[in-house]
Amino acid sequence: MKRAVIAAIVFAAASTATVHPASPSLAAGAAVAEDPRRVRVSHASSMRELVDELCSDRCAGRAAGTEGGRIARGVVIDALRTVGLDPFEQAVPKARGANVLATIPGEIDRYVMVAAHYDHLGTVGRHVYRGADDNAASVAILVDVARRLAAARPMGRGVIIAAFDAEEPPYFLTAAMGSEHFARHPTVPLERIDMMVCLELVGHALGDAHRPSEVRRTMFLLGAERSEGTLTHVHALARTEPGLIIRPADAEVIPRLSDYAAFWERERPFVLLTGGRSRHYHTPDDLPQYLDFARMQATAAWIERFVREQCARHEAPFVFRDRRDDATTLDSIGDLLTPLATVSDVAAMGAQMARSLRARVRRDGALPHDARGQLEQLVAGIESSFA
Ligand SMILES: [Zn+2]
Repeated sequence: MKRAVIAAIVFAAASTATVHPASPSLAAGAAVAEDPRRVRVSHASSMRELVDELCSDRCAGRAAGTEGGRIARGVVIDALRTVGLDPFEQAVPKARGANVLATIPGEIDRYVMVAAHYDHLGTVGRHVYRGADDNAASVAILVDVARRLAAARPMGRGVIIAAFDAEEPPYFLTAAMGSEHFARHPTVPLERIDMMVCLELVGHALGDAHRPSEVRRTMFLLGAERSEGTLTHVHALARTEPGLIIRPADAEVIPRLSDYAAFWERERPFVLLTGGRSRHYHTPDDLPQYLDFARMQATAAWIERFVREQCARHEAPFVFRDRRDDATTLDSIGDLLTPLATVSDVAAMGAQMARSLRARVRRDGALPHDARGQLEQLVAGIESSFA
């Protein structure tokens, strides 16, 4: 497909997204009241409380090295203590901040890490950047996963819970980034961390309320192709949590987005869970009212299941492999867009483009180099149309 046509898809998709106003009533109360699993209601409301605290005036946008960042760190530490862990701080001197780490011991001296950054952009002029989706929601999910795993420890590996500081600019992808600092000064040898599970922008449903649930429940999982055997687990678990559909994609279809970068660079296996950048990304409108707390509960439940499976895997260590898997990405895109093709010309064009690219995938699972740019544009179009 020609570049102009791709650009047209991307543009049409993006402008469709702006036509529909943000859905105003994704309030946690409503979502929780509909949750039949009543036992989880109190945990959902504590997720909401933690998000609200991290997004409060006193945290002032949680910029690394600021008073608000320090207060947010205290909030994270308290939350992890409340669920039964013994968190500690790892200073990140170059950002005048600190990572918060906690360990759930396993039966062997190997680990799965679950990680989310807790910092955000801070206060600029009169605007507080509260960062509800980026990344307070992920921290709330991280704490809930910690609660679940601490209550009944996984078999096999231990778990490291990591709330990283200094992910955001100006620290992103520098030596001062909290996760990069951890990788340079790991609290257990990095080669003993078999899997890093990174949470980034996982608090929002995809698309407006009128979108089909198959779209709204979508969670992208990137990077499974970078370790042997992991994709099999992801496929098997993809639809095991009713509120969520896990759609695997290759880590290279987007620019490096978060804390997994430090692990990828060192050839440690990782996966990234993300809903992509919402329309409120890096604006003062990234607020708790736009989060989907029922979906966040489902996400925590799914991660718990995935982490337990990873902890119990018999391979030690997990084997990193630098292999690109465009076939899986295009299959996921086809699954996502095909049901929409009957109601949307843009989706039909996207689905057609995914099919024609799928036909070009080589035997090793990768697209030829000259077609990879088209895939990236297709992914960017999908991200903006469901933002
Ligand atoms: Zn982020």
